[in-house]
This record gives sequence, structure tokens and C-alpha cells, in this order.
Amino acid sequence: MPRKRPHHLIDNLVTATRILVNEGVMDVFGHVAVRDPDEADTFWLARAGAPARISADDILPFGLEGAPLVETSDALFSERFIHAAVFRANVTTMASGHHHAASIMPYCMGGRTLCALSQTGAWMGSVVPLWDSRNRFGDTAMLVNDMDQADDLAATLADRRLVLMRGHGALVTGTSIEDMTFRAVYACREADTLTAGLQIGSFMPLSEGEITRAEKLSSAAIARAWSHWTALLK
Ligand code: MN
Repeated sequence: MPRKRPHHLIDNLVTATRILVNEGVMDVFGHVAVRDPDEADTFWLARAGAPARISADDILPFGLEGAPLVETSDALFSERFIHAAVFRANVTTMASGHHHAASIMPYCMGGRTLCALSQTGAWMGSVVPLWDSRNRFGDTAMLVNDMDQADDLAATLADRRLVLMRGHGALVTGTSIEDMTFRAVYACREADTLTAGLQIGSFMPLSEGEITRAEKLSSAAIARAWSHWTALLK
């Protein structure tokens, strides 16, 4: 059991979930997790429920094997292992989000790869990795509901911040909740831009040099985006 509830962080977790719903990123089956700042082997995540309705009272602590650290009879997200795996794999990762946004689904089919096209998407790089559960696990129910699959997904993510999941959705991480939220929203914007480009028959990815110069997110940009998106919440 964690020593104390990080109330401010839990409030931000709820806010991030509401932003991602409001910005069209978070569908019914998405969820967001945050690592405890004082206990690196603990993360916080809602019990299973509708993202648009979660509140601070729904947020429970979990260990890095995906098990809740409090006794609970509540239903839990079957894909909570995803968060456990990414927090285990990368000590700089403090927040993690999983979603199935309509914007990114066309790039989860194994055909066209998603790539950076503009300043706010430069961090995605020239090729966003795609994890295919079938490669190691054969036919599944298309849910990452155990640590083996989650570890394999985290290995494909490696030190990146976005990995797409074939026929499934996306995993996005960040060095803070605000950082992850920025990346989650702008990855969807970038996917929308690529889809539009393919429809008009013209698009131009950023060059490697442009990506190198633009890939670092500034804390001012992340703070401005968070301020903007929270002001739009009803
Ligand atoms: Mn999923």
C-alpha cells in the first residue's frame, strides 16, 4: 500500500482523461495512468469505468506487475498491464495513456505508417513503430491483458513516446501527465493531417534534419496546451 495518495497528481490524472475525451482522443475503452512521484514502483489508474465519468475517488494504486495495491472487488481495466510494463521499462516515463482514437486507427492496419509532418508532431519521428500482437502471440482477443504481451509492446515502444498497435490502438507515454497529454492529442492531429494529405494526394513528411531540430517539446508549449485544453473543459 502506498504511503499516501498524491492528490494533486490524481486530480491531474482525472483532468488529463477529461481533456483526452474532450479532444476526441479518448474513446470509451481508453485509460490514463501516472507513476507515483514518491514511489517509483507504484502507479495510479482508475478502476474500470467510462472515461468521461471518472473522478478522483475512482483512482487506485497498482504495482508494476499490474496488481492493485489495495483490496478491491471493483472491476479493473483488463489492459492495465500496459501501464505496468511501460513504467517498468523506462524510468523517465511518468505517465502513460492507451486509446483507440478514430484518427490513428487507419495507421494501425499495417499498411501506411504514421510519420511526423509538422512542428507539433516532430517528436514522433519519421516512422512511428507498429506493434503486432500476432508476431509473438498469434491470434488473440486483441486485448493486451497480461504482462507477457505488455512487455513485448513496451519493447517495441523502446525509448520512443508513441507506439501503434496493429488492429487495436495506441500507447503514448510522457515525462509528466501534461507531456503525455500533449503527445496524445498532437499524434491524433498529425494522423488527421496525414489522412487528409493522402485524400488530396499530397503530403510531405518532415526531413530528418527538421525532426532533429523540432523534436524536443518545450515546457512552455506543454503548459500552454494544458492551459488551453483545461479552459475548454465544460
Ligand atoms: Mn485497448
